[in-house]
Amino acid sequence: MHTQVAIIGAGPAGLLLGRILQSHGIGTVILERRSRDYVLARVRAGMLEQGTVDTLREYGVAERLDEMGVAHPTMQFLWNGVRRDVPLEDEDGRRLTNYGQSYVVEDLIKHREADGLPIVFEAEVSSLDGIEDSPSVTYSVDGETKTLTCDFIAGCDGYLGVSRRSLPGAEAASYLKEFPFAWFGILAEATPNPHTRGFSNTPRGLAVSSARSATRSRLYLQVDPEFDITSMSDDEIWDELDRRLSDQDGNKVTRGPIIEKSVARLRAFVCEKMRHGKLAIAGDAAHIVPPSGAKGLNLAVGDVRLLGEAIRRHLLDKDDALLDDYSRLALERIWPTVHWSCLMSEAFHTFPGQTEFDTRRQHQTLDFWAHDEIGNRWFREAMLGLPYAV
Ligand code: FAD
Repeated sequence: MHTQVAIIGAGPAGLLLGRILQSHGIGTVILERRSRDYVLARVRAGMLEQGTVDTLREYGVAERLDEMGVAHPTMQFLWNGVRRDVPLEDEDGRRLTNYGQSYVVEDLIKHREADGLPIVFEAEVSSLDGIEDSPSVTYSVDGETKTLTCDFIAGCDGYLGVSRRSLPGAEAASYLKEFPFAWFGILAEATPNPHTRGFSNTPRGLAVSSARSATRSRLYLQVDPEFDITSMSDDEIWDELDRRLSDQDGNKVTRGPIIEKSVARLRAFVCEKMRHGKLAIAGDAAHIVPPSGAKGLNLAVGDVRLLGEAIRRHLLDKDDALLDDYSRLALERIWPTVHWSCLMSEAFHTFPGQTEFDTRRQHQTLDFWAHDEIGNRWFREAMLGLPYAV
């Protein structure tokens, strides 16, 4: 089988890149190691920057997002038991929107399938070859080994995928920071309480409350990296959320049936080499952010906007200038965003051995973002997202 662009991974990065290339008339095949059901059920991010919403609209996959997305004009910070409303919307009306990543993925898959374009599920890619001049991808499906030849490979296969490992020089250009805690996340059939939305800094650790839709809540607790997901009953989870998220006015999170639980260790990672020959990587394949900034999905969208245009010029205009500049331009959004996500992590979590002095410094940071004009502007700019290169 031959295609113009082989895309590895049917996460937000791979699926949106397929959609962008489709709009330029460029043929793609997406290879995904998981089943269709698994990909559709995977619960992850949910806070979309205005740029992400606009990009999904631009490529015609935002009908349901426009119906179900929940606007996020402010973010709430809680420390010392007092909740503060921190403005998020800017003077141009840019804001954040809550809409689950699983919905974004489902919308992209359904549009792709309706257009008759191929996604091969349960196709595990094992190697990439010929990336200097005549690329090919080896994968196995139904126990059979197959080869897909192509003109370009887009590695959108996440942090543990095969693409970055196949990119010469990537390892030497990679930087990793691991945080000493994890996030225990639950998805609940519970109408989000608008009075308990946001991030909480407490001596018991961080808690986060957010909306996935008008009827679904996503909540997180800071836990040890080795946390056992079965160690807390549902009632204990809600009680702990109440301890960390209740405020001076007695507002509490709305309870409801928990339909999903997961634990994610917090790390930050950047691979500065994002392209070699006819292979480029995008999204989590190239970088990981701690979830406190809610940036992982948004960064992936920024990467593939740029990569889609670079591949278009490479294939259709025979112009490689943008492709040659891909890593540099992408990193102009990636490093400041990774830095911001680390700052958010440092301001809200309780660190091992944390002293009262450290806690008071955290409160100073939060006060600056919440109440100081310059601090709040900085916070809004970072949360709303940086402009795109193209
Ligand atoms: P992915 O979504 O990881 O997609 C990569 C795809 O490649 C996967 O479908 C995978 O199965 C496939 N793949 C991997 N290897 C192969 C192979 N060898 N062959 C074929 N296919 C392969 N971000 C936020 O902004 N806010 C959050 O609250 C948040 N919560 C998160 C919670 C969890 C548990 C995790 C893991 C991530 C979270 N993130 C969050 C990060 C965000 O979800 C990611 O940044 C986003 O999914 C990146 O999209 P992607 O397409 O680059 O990678």
